Amino acid sequence: TEACMSAIRLARGFTKRDKIIKFAGCYHGHSDSFLIQAGSGASTFGTPNSPGVTQGTAKDTLLANYNDLENVKALFEANKNEIAAIIIEPVAGNMGCVPPKEGFLQALRQVCDANDALLIFDEVMTGFRLARGGVQELYNVKADIVCFGKVIGGGLPVGAFAARHEIMNYLAPLGPVYQAGTLSGNPLAMAAGLAMLETLNADSEIFKRLEEKTAYLHKGIQKVLSDNNIVFTINRVGSMISVHFDAIPVVDFQTAKQGDNETFKKFFHGLLNEGVYIAPSAYETWFITDALTYEDLDFTINAINKVAQTL
Ligand SMILES: *Cc1c(COP(=O)(O)O)cnc(C)c1O
Repeated sequence: TEACMSAIRLARGFTKRDKIIKFAGCYHGHSDSFLIQAGSGASTFGTPNSPGVTQGTAKDTLLANYNDLENVKALFEANKNEIAAIIIEPVAGNMGCVPPKEGFLQALRQVCDANDALLIFDEVMTGFRLARGGVQELYNVKADIVCFGKVIGGGLPVGAFAARHEIMNYLAPLGPVYQAGTLSGNPLAMAAGLAMLETLNADSEIFKRLEEKTAYLHKGIQKVLSDNNIVFTINRVGSMISVHFDAIPVVDFQTAKQGDNETFKKFFHGLLNEGVYIAPSAYETWFITDALTYEDLDFTINAINKVAQTL
């Protein structure tokens, strides 16, 4: 939350512009500017726009549809020289897993460059999960500011953002944009995060192993759901995977919302009864941990097969 909040403050200060573009279904923490069609928990509880966020704040957040380049271009056209940045989950994980269409991130890069706006990747989920260099490495696109969290805390609360010198030097104490916190650089969180990153660094096979395990799970689920004539779509990038009870491809928030939530509820509780605890929302991506063995994955696939017969 704080990383994304500070990243847009920095982008606004650096560009001297007020507006940002965010995508429907992307979640960037619970600071005011982002609580607009934010996916995830907000969508599960049916409060797409939170009370308490003032209209004054909301008017500076422009909403675009994920994977819709024309939509983004039209917003730039209608708000000439007013847009500071685009912020995006470059592989979305808060409306289920929704990958960027081929060329979409590259096109956003070009649109930002053409309009002197910054591109912010919120890699809080994807950073150090999909690759050591996150989505920037995987899709070979450079953002101007990158936000991190989750993995880099090794289980402790943490957030971070990074940018090139020119932008970073615009931040206090070198620059005028203020950011500080009592527990910033907290030694306990830093130690846990460092241990995590050192563990990842020492294990050159980990991302490959995670991908293989998740692909195995993907294939298994696909088979048992098909065998049971369930209508579904699975999205996956590396070790991020989500099952949507949706007959059409899930490419944005609109299509994610068309999934059958009643079936998801039965699926969730059925799995819980079988001893498999998935995230309790149709909008949460599953993240496969390396601690899971192939036996665990088979157990999961078998449980899904049993539950599928009751859907
Ligand atoms: C979880 C998440 C956040 C917010 O992180 P918190 O630790 O809950 O403040 C921001 N962006 C993305 C993409 C997330 O998944």
